[in-house]
Amino acid sequence: MVPKPMVPGVAAPSMATRLGDELLRERGGVRYHPLRTRSLLNRCDSVRVPFDFTVNPYRGCAMGCRYCYAAYTHEYIGRDPVEEFHSVIYVKRGGERASARQLARLAGQDRHVALGTATDPYQPGEATLRVTRAFLESAACLPGLHLSITTKGALILRDLDLLQRIQARSRLSVRVSLISTRADLLRELEPWAPPPAVRLETLRRLVDAGLPASLSLAPVLPGLTDSAAELSGLLEATRAAGVQHISYGLLFLRAPTRDSFLRFLARSFPALAPAYQRAYEGHAYLGGRYVRGLRARIERLAAAHGLALSDFDQDDIRRRASLTSSAKASQNVKNAARRGSAGPQETSLPTSRRAPVRPVNTRPGEVQIPLWD
Ligand code: SF4
Repeated sequence: MVPKPMVPGVAAPSMATRLGDELLRERGGVRYHPLRTRSLLNRCDSVRVPFDFTVNPYRGCAMGCRYCYAAYTHEYIGRDPVEEFHSVIYVKRGGERASARQLARLAGQDRHVALGTATDPYQPGEATLRVTRAFLESAACLPGLHLSITTKGALILRDLDLLQRIQARSRLSVRVSLISTRADLLRELEPWAPPPAVRLETLRRLVDAGLPASLSLAPVLPGLTDSAAELSGLLEATRAAGVQHISYGLLFLRAPTRDSFLRFLARSFPALAPAYQRAYEGHAYLGGRYVRGLRARIERLAAAHGLALSDFDQDDIRRRASLTSSAKASQNVKNAARRGSAGPQETSLPTSRRAPVRPVNTRPGEVQIPLWD
């Protein structure tokens, strides 16, 4: 997005500059700037995701995950998504009252509000900036909300009191993201996220506090974190922390993260890079035999460790799809009545399109990943 010059012949300030030069804090090479916003709640109309509203208190995320799909959001504010998503963080300000009013309207409606879909709400800056905490304080005053929180940050333990108050009056789920117990591997993949032992301890304390905490095993990375031994170790440690539910998801790779992740692989895991390159050529998702095999493996291991697979995401997707379907059917009835036709038209939900599956041929020295049938 290129801003128009305000004075002919004089370059306009960049979008990032106009958003705010004020520096709220700088620490560890991460700069935090304010971002004026009307409300923290964003409506989400896609029926392919399980939530009705998203809340992302920050733009950008200092956890630094190499695979982070959300980096593209920096493009919208004129920032380099690859270079700056993890080091220039915008702090949403000014939407507190509107958010509280919007939340109040959602009370009792079973509309899923997901906190932390494109940033980590408990990234390091939250310790002093407290945008997430302020939002939760509003939520804690209301009954009948439906709120989920996804994080890697142990800082969530600071807000145990609020979470317990929310749980007493609303439907709450807390998901701690962890994809491996190997600290050395995660230091490469998620350089500024808490190590696995800290996240497992976070889960344990959430469970001990009586909160509905589950493991978010996402994204599973082919060839890196998907072996039965690796997954079994993670699920065993998760169960030992008192957790009873897990959810999981596969790596989703789209531009611009796709290219930066492939460059990272080429540097750090060169034997894997060609297979990923081919598997994600023209696709953001994997499919085929690999996915079916992985699902079966995770389901088997989860059962073996006494963990239930949470299907609340699927429940929410079905609920939202049926709402959309009913709304469309009702609209079709109205349209038919207007046209004078006999009855409603058939409605159908969007289906995902996938390019044909291609075989993967490996060369000597490459790791083979059966990513496609
Ligand atoms: S914690 Fe989540 S939002 Fe933050 S960098 Fe990692 S994947 Fe992205």
